[in-house]
Amino acid sequence: MSSKISLSQCKREVNGKLALLYRQLGKEQQFKISCTVRYDLRGTRAGTAQLHYRLGAPSNRKEDNVIYLNQGMLQDPALHQEMVDEVIPHELAHIAAGHLYPHERGHGKQWRSIALSLGCSGKRTHNYDVTEHQVRKVRRLSYRCSNELCAKPYKLTVIRHNRVLKGRRYLCRHCRSALVQDEVELETCGGEL
Ligand SMILES: [Zn+2]
Ligand SMILES: [Zn+2]
Repeated sequence: MSSKISLSQCKREVNGKLALLYRQLGKEQQFKISCTVRYDLRGTRAGTAQLHYRLGAPSNRKEDNVIYLNQGMLQDPALHQEMVDEVIPHELAHIAAGHLYPHERGHGKQWRSIALSLGCSGKRTHNYDVTEHQVRKVRRLSYRCSNELCAKPYKLTVIRHNRVLKGRRYLCRHCRSALVQDEVELETCGGEL
């Protein structure tokens, strides 16, 4: 039985890989980003990515762009290399696509072209675990009145949110200012890789 790769070694490799990928993204997509990596993803998913919106736009802050990795898979010598070479670019491509093409969801054309440019195979699911491919829809859609003096919070349904993406405006019931999306967690990759 082979032994686990230490978490500190994993983190060094993840950070090294990401540094390379950030440079590649800058070169090929003219897009600069730096992500927070968390290692607490459990279960059958190898990785997932989340980005947060602030005041209606994807946030560039490091803490708002999060890649979650499955620590058990990362430390497993049989899966380790694929985690580094496939899963990390896969998830980073979700973050980049979320910024560059915010209307696209999941594994669309733009995501795929970014993933391929980062050296990922562009496949959607990993083949070392039986898991359903599922990209979850955004569920919590927090909006806020854009008038800073009012700033009342609102929850919009997915249907209304989709209308906002197409240009529809919803107004605050109190002051009639437009509502803007507010620090919403966008699950860019709900299942699989
Ligand atoms: Zn208001
Ligand atoms: Zn994905």
